[in-house]
Amino acid sequence: MAEQTKLVKDMLEMFGPDRVFSSDLDRYTYTYDSSFLSQINEYYPDVVVCPKGTEEVSKVMRYAYENEIPVTPRGAGTGQTGGSVAICGGIILDLSTWNEVVEIDTVNMQVVVRPGVVHNHLNNTLSSYGLFFPPDPGSSKMATIGGMVSNNASGLRAVKFGNTSQYVLGLEVVLPNGEVMKTGGLKSKALKSVSGLDLTRLYNGSEGTLGVITEIRIKVLPKPQARGILLALFPKLEDSAETVLEVFKNGLIPSGIEILDDGGIKAANKYKPELNLPEVEAALFFEVNGSKPAVEYEGLQIKEIAEKRACHVEWATDPDRMAKLWQGRAVIGAASARVKEGATRIFAGEDVCFPIAKVPYALRAIKDIGKQYNTQVVIYGHIGDGNMHTAPIIDPLKPEEVEACHKVADSIHRLALEVGGSTTGEHGVGITRTPYMEEEHGKALDIMRM
Ligand SMILES: Cc1cc2nc3c(=O)[nH]c(=O)nc-3n(C[C@H](O)[C@H](O)[C@H](O)COP(=O)(O)OP(=O)(O)OC[C@H]3O[C@@H](n4cnc5c(N)ncnc54)[C@H](O)[C@@H]3O)c2cc1C
Repeated sequence: MAEQTKLVKDMLEMFGPDRVFSSDLDRYTYTYDSSFLSQINEYYPDVVVCPKGTEEVSKVMRYAYENEIPVTPRGAGTGQTGGSVAICGGIILDLSTWNEVVEIDTVNMQVVVRPGVVHNHLNNTLSSYGLFFPPDPGSSKMATIGGMVSNNASGLRAVKFGNTSQYVLGLEVVLPNGEVMKTGGLKSKALKSVSGLDLTRLYNGSEGTLGVITEIRIKVLPKPQARGILLALFPKLEDSAETVLEVFKNGLIPSGIEILDDGGIKAANKYKPELNLPEVEAALFFEVNGSKPAVEYEGLQIKEIAEKRACHVEWATDPDRMAKLWQGRAVIGAASARVKEGATRIFAGEDVCFPIAKVPYALRAIKDIGKQYNTQVVIYGHIGDGNMHTAPIIDPLKPEEVEACHKVADSIHRLALEVGGSTTGEHGVGITRTPYMEEEHGKALDIMRM
């Protein structure tokens, strides 16, 4: 307690009461992110500091280094693996309030932002310049760019445009001892560089373990002219995945390919009855973007392929119709719990990634795992990358359901490793994937620890 008081006093002296929080209630609001694990445990930080400048971050880091106090950087806390909670106590550096877009260089197609800028805000700002930042997490209205870089986030458009790391050109980082470094060249505006070791890439996905990201230079792209959406419904789950493989075999790369399984369809219908989706085993949503003729051509090619296995296919380019079709996918995060009265959707084992050739097998295997533990698992997500969201739906107040949920999540992680996939395609390791790191990485884990 005495130590905590000194820490809080020192932080208050450095930053004043408006940016230092230490009451029980304030600290409580930082004990969790979106992971289930952080909701069933309480990880209190000793103090929360909201810095607004590189020098301020540096001061905190130097202080913490000299006094051996753990520091956990935090963006919006939407991470699903407990990465932004202070599992060893100490200081939480809340960077969400440091949210300036520093520069928009339209000609060189790049922007410089501070870590707390929210993804959706950045894209709304870029839209008026005819530009966009392609990674597109479902948490777009909340997630910060600092958090996205640190988790190497991706999302609905990764199948064509890749993940965050493919757009990060350079970073300013405060190192654990308070020193400041710039990666990607001190004055660079280049869109490509192979000068020196790629430290920028090392920080992508480093989850706050290697320093605090205080500035980010990002490549942006011209906004595509046109877009189209195709909805395809499949009586048999595996046929949806086979259709995806056939689309790729035909040389087509949609900008998004998303799946909802039967539970997902049911949940979406309960949440928004006007959607009225037929209750089949799987629905696929393809998004195509690019020039107008290319979109039309690709859309019709995908339609032809989907019709071989689907019982219903609809292609739309009308904005209202597209918005309506896409709603089925858009609501699922919030809707999934509706498949079971009074239950909650759990974030555990929720973003494993399978090799795409194994997806037809993996989809059915996940269903079987759910049955084995008597737990409904809703499947949805980025099937084009093999990156599936698996949502166990349970009553978290019933210990036997929580126990079953842990077993389901563990089995899904192990299934991913067994078929040559990854335990996490986009959300990261945090505290939830540490048990699998040895098996997934072998010797490379020792190097990461160093
Ligand atoms: C509804 C919902 C949908 C989601 N959909 C997707 C999706 O489609 N794709 C996807 O990839 N993710 C998704 N996520 C997960 C999450 O939104 C992303 O991982 C996001 O990038 C986290 O950003 P954040 O600002 O909330 O970071 P936080 O959760 O606050 O932090 C995440 C990690 O980054 C570290 N960190 C944060 N800021 C910094 C910094 N400035 N310097 C160093 N380290 C830092 C933290 O220590 C932590 O380890 C979703 C989450 C929710 C709740």
